[in-house]
Amino acid sequence: MNNPYYSNTDITLLDVSNDEWKKILSEDVFYIGRQKGTERPFTGKFWESSERGTYYCAVCGNALFKSDSKFASSCGWPSFFESIRKDAVIYIPDYSHGMNRTEVECGRCKSHLGHIFEDGPKPTGNRFCMNSLMLDFEPEDKIQSVSF
Ligand code: FE
Repeated sequence: MNNPYYSNTDITLLDVSNDEWKKILSEDVFYIGRQKGTERPFTGKFWESSERGTYYCAVCGNALFKSDSKFASSCGWPSFFESIRKDAVIYIPDYSHGMNRTEVECGRCKSHLGHIFEDGPKPTGNRFCMNSLMLDFEPEDKIQSVSF
């Protein structure tokens, strides 16, 4: 991937124009992340996955979710009950399409990730309803082998 902004460790906030992102991102990721698109349910690569590891922003590499907080949801998108850090994501009121929802954006690059709903499991009661295309997954055994 030829993305100079991508990092799993740098948490410096990014302010990159859509003209620039368009040159860097795949068409799918640009459409969802920068134009607030949505992938069709039950089509993404993570909605059904239960592998242990960490999910990162597909646009900038920011760590977003641990698999510990992922739960089986019938909605067709990968669902989590909490983010990896409080400031990993930001929340934006979204009144589009005649609905009153809360949009979730990456806390580092402000790309659209999905929405948050209040029908999730305990302990938070939240359901982060994310687009698989906006997530990069790093399995846990790979993470551990890097730290040895
Ligand atoms: Fe990001």
